[in-house]
Amino acid sequence: MKRYNGKSIYKGIAIGAIKVFNKAEYDTSKRIILDSEVEAEIQRYVKARDTAVQQLQAIFRRAVNEVGQATANIFDVQSMLLGDDDYTDSVYNYIQNEHTNAEYAVFQSGEVISQIFSDMDDEYMKARAADIKDVSHRVITILCGGADESLDSDQPVILAADELTPAETIQLDKKKILAFVTKYGSSQSHTAILARTMNIPALTGVIIDSSWNGKQAVVDGFTGEFILEPDEETLKAEEEKRAEALKKLELLQQLKGKETVTKGGQKINLYANIGSVADADLALENDAEGIGLFRSEFLYIGRSTYPTEEEQFVAYKNVARKMQGKKVIIRTLDIGADKKADYFKLDAEENPALGFRAIRICLERPELFKTQLRAIYRASAFGNLAIMYPMIISVDEVKKIKKISADVRSALNKENIPYGNVEQGVMIETPAAVLMSEDLAQEVDFFSIGTNDLTQYTLAIDRQNSKLESFYDPHHPAVLKQIQMTVENGHKHGCWVGICGELGADMDLTETFLKMGVDELSVSPSRILPIREKIRSL
Ligand code: PEP
Ligand code: MG
Repeated sequence: MKRYNGKSIYKGIAIGAIKVFNKAEYDTSKRIILDSEVEAEIQRYVKARDTAVQQLQAIFRRAVNEVGQATANIFDVQSMLLGDDDYTDSVYNYIQNEHTNAEYAVFQSGEVISQIFSDMDDEYMKARAADIKDVSHRVITILCGGADESLDSDQPVILAADELTPAETIQLDKKKILAFVTKYGSSQSHTAILARTMNIPALTGVIIDSSWNGKQAVVDGFTGEFILEPDEETLKAEEEKRAEALKKLELLQQLKGKETVTKGGQKINLYANIGSVADADLALENDAEGIGLFRSEFLYIGRSTYPTEEEQFVAYKNVARKMQGKKVIIRTLDIGADKKADYFKLDAEENPALGFRAIRICLERPELFKTQLRAIYRASAFGNLAIMYPMIISVDEVKKIKKISADVRSALNKENIPYGNVEQGVMIETPAAVLMSEDLAQEVDFFSIGTNDLTQYTLAIDRQNSKLESFYDPHHPAVLKQIQMTVENGHKHGCWVGICGELGADMDLTETFLKMGVDELSVSPSRILPIREKIRSL
């Protein structure tokens, strides 16, 4: 048995086998092989291709449940592309006739065939160019030693990795993960936020050793401990602790259907933060009163092309329907900084958190923005949708946004496409927005305070940098004063004010937020019932 101390990102206890997630070195350089090696190289390719097909089929099945058939079809198409004759002939030709290694053969074939698709007139075929590159990337990754690997074990595992990006995290099959353990990563990163949404114990700051693969371990998210090959006594103690935590959870179930109201009668809306259509089920299971933040950028990352208007429409419509008339606030694309998608072709930046991201990208690329707004407005006919805009710093920006959304609505009117009565709000997550909140309140229906970024920008602390964790203090008076100021300025002009950053779930501050007059808290689904219990006790 060996104990390691990490930092807890999410509480809970997991016991199970470890799976070390290896990121392979991605290498497509050309290597000439001998005649005698050709057959083995072909077999390497065939095996990698078959694994890729299995992965894509598993992703397809999961995606059908999570995001619907229309969006999921892309994975079906991708697995078919791997069986395409031209593609296969090309790979075989490079290996058999040019005597090159499989990685190079697949890379070159991907480049050549995707160019052929790009040159076609048919828009649908043109769009397949990116899919060819994507599947080639998948096969090469498998050839290089297995990153992008699916969790192929039947049993759920404790996933250990040096680092997990948000794109990698959202692609994992949540049912197969008991816990995350990583070496790098801060508690404010989006990967940490995703772990909290998934309601699984998570630790960071543990040096991962690939020899742990398959070994038994305990992740104790209460103490931050990672225990490798626990002895019987330790295992028993941890099992008891886990049973106790589950018992507490069961008791909380009694609060489902109860009002979120203090003993003195003060009510607050208790909503959930989600990152996918499937997360809406978690929100419902935990009796959320609405969705206060749907991080729509997760529909854009972990894939190789922009989601179409139709795909987004289906996703937003599904969430609206699932929530059955409860409010669903969709945040428009907040890509950039740690949330990346290659196909956006964003330049590398010195200071990505202060860079070209979120609403800045949407205002510079209005077609992209309009596609999303059209999808949201169309979906609003199927439920109670609201829209909010991230990273706002000025009234001028909001005026530009309102003009674009008015254009989108008038286009829908002309096409006789119905849409609902959609509230529009802004995230207050920069000190500039706080200082301008009195003016901003006159432009919008609501504010949602993003304390994760507000803390980052107020204290000048990169939320991604785990070395700065001890300085990152969301209880800092400068942050709390800004929350108070935002609530007061919002209320002066009839704007309701919520908090959707992680601080909203901090029960040491629940009473403070109520006193400030905060109207809504939006938190990870699993935090809904504990916070309702807290509020009802006040
Ligand atoms: C925030 O900044 O507090 C927020 C809710 O948005 P995100 O964490 O996605 O940046
Ligand atoms: Mg933010």
